[in-house]
Amino acid sequence: MATVEIIFATNNANKVKEIKAVTGNLLTVLSLADAGIDIDIPEPYDTLEANASEKSRVIHNLTKKNCFSEDTGLEIVALNGEPGVKSARYAGDERNFQANIDLVLQKLLNKENKKAQFRTVISLIWNEQEYLFEGICKGHIIANQRGTEGFGYDPIFVPDGANKCFAEMSMEEKNLFSHRKKAMSKLIDFLLQQTQQD
Ligand code: IMP
Repeated sequence: MATVEIIFATNNANKVKEIKAVTGNLLTVLSLADAGIDIDIPEPYDTLEANASEKSRVIHNLTKKNCFSEDTGLEIVALNGEPGVKSARYAGDERNFQANIDLVLQKLLNKENKKAQFRTVISLIWNEQEYLFEGICKGHIIANQRGTEGFGYDPIFVPDGANKCFAEMSMEEKNLFSHRKKAMSKLIDFLLQQTQQD
């Protein structure tokens, strides 16, 4: 398969790093910064799907190129799926990772059930059509945060099958479990099929 160039509609450098680590030589992934686009795309909707679609549409309308975006939420069973689509701004509009973690831990203090999952939805616009891909990583929330790697809620989330939280893992280890990696693998399989048909 020839290398396919595609824009990843995000300003989050951590996400770009994680995605580039799984795409290898199959895709040349351009971040918004790589593509020379300086825009903060809103996430106004109440589902991950709608927000992911909005981001890929905005960038596709701007560039007319193939692109994808993703939206991710941490869904905690005892909090009825919160913070979910509100994950970035759970503790306020400043999108402060530490404040978000503190709020989750405080809300879980008296809850027995610590089960949670990360869910990623990718919206791909490929040859003018939109395709959605989902990736889920199940796990649980720990009582005290640990580790310094990663971002967001990584210091409090331990995936099933691991004894370390995401923030104690290298990016390669996180990608063995990661929601984003799973969604991205589906996207790559799709593109492999498409480009073999071309
Ligand atoms: P976004 O709206 O998809 O950028 O993500 C919402 C929020 O979820 C981010 O601000 C992060 O706090 C959190 N988040 C997304 N992906 C991850 C992850 O892989 N690990 C930890 N937190 C994440």
